Amino acid sequence: MVGSQVKHIETDTLVLGGGWSGLLAASALSREKRSFVLLEKEPELGGLARTFSLNGFRYDIGGHRIHFKNRANWSFLNTLIKVNELLYLKRKSKLFFENKFINYPPTVHSLFAMKGIHLLKILFQFSKVAGNPRSLRLENFEQWVKSNYGHTLYEILFKDYTEKVWGVSCDQLSSCWAGRRIGENPFLNVFRLFYGGDDLKERNPSFYYPAMGMGQVIQVLADSLPPKAVIRGGFPVRFHSNNKRLKRLTAEVGGEEVQISFEHLMTSIPLAELFHALAVPFNKVKEVSYRSLLLVSLVYEYRSLPDWQWCYFPSDRFIFSRLYIPKNWSPGMVPASGQVLVCAEIFCDFDDSCWNCSEEELAAKVDRDIMKSFVFQGMKVNAWEVKRFRYAYPLLYLNYEKKIRELKERSLDYENLSLIGRSGTHAYFDLEECLENVKQEVEGKEA
Ligand SMILES: Cc1cc2nc3c(=O)[nH]c(=O)nc-3n(C[C@H](O)[C@H](O)[C@H](O)COP(=O)(O)OP(=O)(O)OC[C@H]3O[C@@H](n4cnc5c(N)ncnc54)[C@H](O)[C@@H]3O)c2cc1C
Repeated sequence: MVGSQVKHIETDTLVLGGGWSGLLAASALSREKRSFVLLEKEPELGGLARTFSLNGFRYDIGGHRIHFKNRANWSFLNTLIKVNELLYLKRKSKLFFENKFINYPPTVHSLFAMKGIHLLKILFQFSKVAGNPRSLRLENFEQWVKSNYGHTLYEILFKDYTEKVWGVSCDQLSSCWAGRRIGENPFLNVFRLFYGGDDLKERNPSFYYPAMGMGQVIQVLADSLPPKAVIRGGFPVRFHSNNKRLKRLTAEVGGEEVQISFEHLMTSIPLAELFHALAVPFNKVKEVSYRSLLLVSLVYEYRSLPDWQWCYFPSDRFIFSRLYIPKNWSPGMVPASGQVLVCAEIFCDFDDSCWNCSEEELAAKVDRDIMKSFVFQGMKVNAWEVKRFRYAYPLLYLNYEKKIRELKERSLDYENLSLIGRSGTHAYFDLEECLENVKQEVEGKEA
């Protein structure tokens, strides 16, 4: 570090990370008139809930659907953005299967559009397993899906996509992912799966969306904070503790050392980053591991466009797992120009060959594979950019819940430390779950 004068800051609460959860925590502290400092590594706030802009085209990190189950959470959201001004969208999502775009979640129509042999196998296997549903808690993802839905549905709908997203075979993944995507009651869910309309967020037929993307909500939250309390471009270097209390942080901000003394620490940064600053040795592979995401956005001149908002691509013929078209979420996401931005999500591991691909190579591969899907054929790329997210998904490997709990008990036993949000707790939280978790931690309230 350079600079001779070390800056000292004293505050009641230090909030680490300025994503959705860190901002929610800071905003709650601000409402309670408690002193706080928020430290964010990136120049912009919002973390995984940011909205980026390329030549006036806006895009989220994967399109953020708002599905809140709890009425109190809607009321809270309404204080940030008028809920009745949110767009209410009917879900239009597809799965690219055997060179066809079929509805996902599949409808009865798409089931019958499958080859007859698939249909016969699905019905036969389901009739065998339906009377004998198996517990979600006992098994890995593969066993659970096969034993509840049969081999064919597993192979067609779940195996390839799941392995492409997570980068590990389905027998090494926790079955909690099945609960998220498919639901716990197989007999009811197989009908819901094909007829649509249930309360599982992942399959919900409609959702809310801010006209200018999720970043619109983030901006309101960020603007509600006292500017002096928010430090961007800074990260923790090492913590100083006394007995079971963390007391002070040595941080680096824009190349300068800053000392921050605090009474309470709320951290929403990825656990791996926290462990690093606490000098906690941890086995990266077995315990705290992540799936990374590359977001490749291409701006095309277009003649015609599909009407879907996003489409899953399970086959390894495509470098991406999902395409997303922000224009089909909100007209506010595009300038009027006869062009369209298409966003491709590529999952990989940090520092693997895919992560290390040059931006040019990634854009060329995505363009090549988009052309393979027929719809966009002949369109010309006018602009593109690549964003990399090292900590996009906490890896939900088999028994990860138990291992993470034990690791936290062993290494994070400080009485003034709170872990908040998705990255801070290392949980597969959506926006609403982050909100409920932050409410509990900051206000000690049941959400
Ligand atoms: C592709 C994708 C699609 C999604 N779609 C939806 C959806 O449709 N609906 C929904 O409800 N949810 C969705 N989510 C989940 C949602 O984005 C997250 O639940 C939420 O944004 C998590 O916020 P967070 O603040 O807990 O974590 P993060 O957003 O990860 O925030 C952590 C913050 O800490 C910062 N940071 C990291 N390291 C340091 C450090 N060393 N020092 C200081 N700061 C640091 C980061 O820059 C970041 O700002 C999606 C997530 C992804 C990845």
